Amino acid sequence: MAKYIFITGGVISSLGKGITSASIGKILESRGLKVTMMKLDPYINVDPGTMNPYQHGEVYVTEDGAETDLDLGHYERFISASMTKFNNVTTGQVYNAVIARERHGDYLGKTIQVIPHITNEIKDRIKKAASISGADIILVEVGGTVGDIESLPFLEAVRQFGLDMGKENVIYIHLTLVPYIKCAEEIKTKPTQHSVGTLREIGIQPDILICRTEKTLTNELKEKISLFCSIRKEAVIENKDVGSIYEIPLIFKNQILDEIILSHFKLISRPSDLKHWEKNVVEKVIAPKHKVTIALVGKYIALQDAYKSIYESLVHAVIANDTKVEVKKIDSEEIEKNGGDKLLEGVSGILVPGGFGSRGIEGKIKAIRFAREKGIPFLGLCLGMQCVVVEFARNCCGLKAANSTEFKPKAKYPLISLIEEQRKVKNLGGTMRLGAYPCKLKKGSLAAKVYGKQLISERHRHRYEFNNKYRKLLSKKGLVFSGIYPKENLVEIVELKNHPYFIAVQFHPEFKSKPDRSHPLFRDFIKAALERQG
Ligand code: GLN
Repeated sequence: MAKYIFITGGVISSLGKGITSASIGKILESRGLKVTMMKLDPYINVDPGTMNPYQHGEVYVTEDGAETDLDLGHYERFISASMTKFNNVTTGQVYNAVIARERHGDYLGKTIQVIPHITNEIKDRIKKAASISGADIILVEVGGTVGDIESLPFLEAVRQFGLDMGKENVIYIHLTLVPYIKCAEEIKTKPTQHSVGTLREIGIQPDILICRTEKTLTNELKEKISLFCSIRKEAVIENKDVGSIYEIPLIFKNQILDEIILSHFKLISRPSDLKHWEKNVVEKVIAPKHKVTIALVGKYIALQDAYKSIYESLVHAVIANDTKVEVKKIDSEEIEKNGGDKLLEGVSGILVPGGFGSRGIEGKIKAIRFAREKGIPFLGLCLGMQCVVVEFARNCCGLKAANSTEFKPKAKYPLISLIEEQRKVKNLGGTMRLGAYPCKLKKGSLAAKVYGKQLISERHRHRYEFNNKYRKLLSKKGLVFSGIYPKENLVEIVELKNHPYFIAVQFHPEFKSKPDRSHPLFRDFIKAALERQG
């Protein structure tokens, strides 16, 4: 029978519940157990696909094309399980399903209520994700902070789950903040007591407490927390601020969190093996040999979460190159207004990420021209690729009015436009080209060299495509079309010859990079940047 771990968060948001959950997943997987993970999101959107990055952060896309919470990205980076549409449940999905059933008449005259109908739907979805995965342990992260109105149905479902499955099959972990108050020079446990108190009012007694803290928790503090929160002292786990998120599994391992969990579940497993992770990820992140500066030219740079997987992929690439990365985040609108020369001066690589809408586009195009003309290693992702072909058409093929119909619907030269199947789309939610598609690489191209093979598969999230009408002209002028989706003849990769590293892709390689297996496009981008730097 599968075992379930529920992770809730208290006191404040942004404590890193996703990374904490993923790290617990990692230490359990390192014991030879099959682990999967799930995120319950209390918002009413069906998925985050229609949300602004400033509202939600990055939308993470799974192989099967689900637009999900960015925590699923952490899960895939920390553990080996592949996430699917079943691993992210939102209030919107739950209500959608229950209301559809009610309209169908399936409830036979009953009044539909949060308890039991909504809570049953939540529990069924958790069980479904568990059974599809075939995992020994399912970690379920409950979004939001304890005390929110929105997350109550989820917490109630999670409480019932413990009753249904039996105490020995369920563990509740609560992530909390133990703040250090500077002027009092003291660490305070009261917010944690209150948070656990609120959880107990709902009927959930946490078994394990994970305490985010700036300072080391003394024995006395742990005893105090243990006493007030009714949690065994060894199950009060310290989660002190660290330099790299990839250290966290080791920190938990050192406090035998895996043992505490396994003994609760009465599971016997092989000893933990985190050697590879420690040597090939953590040690490299902590003590790199070189440093390289990369410019990221985008419009959501003010929010750390908006390009989460890209930042992580850069970290993986620098691990692979034994270096450290400084990401210079440049607002593309700044370049639009003031030009890029000053802002981009001295960087060893330029990355233009994906995005939507016309704001900042001209700045991205200027940055691309800068990289192309000055021989600066360049990586373009999704919208980044679309801007590459527009820039190339304008400045190398004489098509000054080249554009994407996303920004100029009646563009004279629509280098990027909608394909037939997208023209018919009416609803915006879940209708982009989403998820994994195969891509065939051109023999002898940079792409084929970087990947070391000719057939690849990458994840997508876009509506617009390269307009094949212009392929011949652009090829003649030197743009190489090195990756094609064969079934529909769609352009997936473009690159330049006679440039140290200039490649742009219609897909999102950042979703498949892992700390110990850097995505080759990022790995070689950083390698080229290091070479440029000398
Ligand atoms: N806005 C572009 C499109 O929809 C690019 C999307 C993206 O960068 N993810 O095609």
